[in-house]
Amino acid sequence: MEPIVGIDLGTTNSEVAFIINNNAEIFQDNDNGIMPSCVGLNAEGQIIVGMEAKNQAELFPEQTVLSVKRLMGKEEKIVLGNQSYLPQEISAFILKALKERAEKKLNQKVSKAVITVPAYFTDAQRQATREAGEIAGLNVVRIINEPTAAALAYETNSSEHQNILIYDLGGGTFDVSIVKIESDVVEVLSSTGDNHLGGDDFDHAIMKLLLDYIQNELKMTIKEPQKLMARLKRASEAAKIELSSSPYVKIEEDHIGRKTFRDIHLSYELSRDAFEEMIDDDISRTMDAVNTALKDANLLPADIDKIILVGGSTRIPKISKMLEEKFSQLPHGEIDPDLCVALGAAIQAGREMGMDQSSILLDITPYTFGTSALGTLNGQPIHTLFVPLIRKNTKLPASRSEVFYTMVDGQENAEIKVYQGEHPNALDNVLINKYMFRLSNNTPGGSPIVLNYDLDINGILKMEAMEKQSGRKINAVIENAFASFSEEEISRSRRKIEEAWGNSEEESLELVEITDNLFDKLPHDMKEIIRQVQARLDDAPEEDRDEMIDLIEDIQDAIQEGNLDRAKECKKELEEILFYIGDE
Ligand code: AMP
Repeated sequence: MEPIVGIDLGTTNSEVAFIINNNAEIFQDNDNGIMPSCVGLNAEGQIIVGMEAKNQAELFPEQTVLSVKRLMGKEEKIVLGNQSYLPQEISAFILKALKERAEKKLNQKVSKAVITVPAYFTDAQRQATREAGEIAGLNVVRIINEPTAAALAYETNSSEHQNILIYDLGGGTFDVSIVKIESDVVEVLSSTGDNHLGGDDFDHAIMKLLLDYIQNELKMTIKEPQKLMARLKRASEAAKIELSSSPYVKIEEDHIGRKTFRDIHLSYELSRDAFEEMIDDDISRTMDAVNTALKDANLLPADIDKIILVGGSTRIPKISKMLEEKFSQLPHGEIDPDLCVALGAAIQAGREMGMDQSSILLDITPYTFGTSALGTLNGQPIHTLFVPLIRKNTKLPASRSEVFYTMVDGQENAEIKVYQGEHPNALDNVLINKYMFRLSNNTPGGSPIVLNYDLDINGILKMEAMEKQSGRKINAVIENAFASFSEEEISRSRRKIEEAWGNSEEESLELVEITDNLFDKLPHDMKEIIRQVQARLDDAPEEDRDEMIDLIEDIQDAIQEGNLDRAKECKKELEEILFYIGDE
């Protein structure tokens, strides 16, 4: 049968996908499925497409065409060397490169494609896309809307009625669409956005910050501004990407210029918080558009059954957070947001070929993994706020870091607990393991500790905690983080850990845990005293605090062993300590 490929012809990047053994797959080239939507002329005057053209874009802007998609449907001439081209002719170079990639992989001619376009594209823009295909030697069997393709990628065989919101933030454009899916038919209910908002703006914000720093702090004269700009642009994008998985990034560029006969190197640390603050206005604008899309579709946030993230920029954690807050549900990004539209186009292409059951193979984590920290839950301060690092349904392998802070001056240890679960209170989740991290001497309170989780497809979870200032680290490997624990196993392993803990020389400065199950079983007076002790732990003198923690642990053990007398003794001792330390 003649193959039909699915193509996402994007503003920044383009991809081509196909159904192989009932699964939609992206065709890769040099391990990369993403082809920059760039066309240029090289030094020999030959047309170059993709990464090669992108690499020269900053240095030879007049020899490179970027974001041609914005011009589709317009009668604009694009001059490249001594030739001038229509937008659909430039797009045809990109499509031809994708077609060749597909032919190389399939080892046969490819002459049919499904191509995606934004939902807002006019007839003229759709026609120009069709023409681009034809110029490239592709019969465009169907043009489908990008949000429709994204919905198809996630709901390959959905028969039930669903309203899906597709939040698409790419390199240079932002679109939000709401689609209704029912019996395999997808209808776009509303679509809005901003044609000039995306990851490029975030790169520029970082670049501007670096330039200010170079000019005002390093106070050097820039010799070859264009070369430096090209380097800074690349460094800014790399830093932005790094900040999606780490709380800090060090931007280092050597030999950026000279001052008083010395070479100047750039070394600038940027935190995720500072970056997210810089792009706050842009992100807020996208949320305004989300409201408009809801209004246009005549729907309320509660009517949305699913949120799908599309476009590379949706990997910025703040975006999921904002959507989660608004819709009280986790947005889906498990299908690579850069590839989702092309994969959906391939599913549609498969249908055109009579294959109705194709889907997308995914390695995702079935559970959320996180840790516990001091925080607020329902307006109340708690010591056991669950902080997710790797969320359920994240594509694997995944690596995420978060920053935490020491609580007091001279804190000797930090207790790192690894939890699996979904509850906002860590105590309701499964404690997989806990580790004591001995800190450097005399660290001031509020010193950052960076915690990283790295999870692979086999469920091997690597934990690393690092004191940011000193670089001191601990590492641990949990071999089977996907094991599903029975209640009995959980309590057995919890006891094992508690016992090993008891033998340790080191002591925790963190709040002791009592599992909720166990807590519920405690007599009322016992619960009450534990609540009182927990409320006083932070301000208790250090020796008392340690003793209080030990006694709560003893109560926990005693209750588990059914030794009520021992539990009562501990309760009495706790009452004495509370009496002794008095009111605040
Ligand atoms: P797209 O147009 O969908 O291919 O998205 C490209 C944009 O996504 C570019 O601006 C990239 O820098 C950006 N991007 C890719 N990966 C990440 C990431 N991990 N965090 C933030 N932005 C990213």
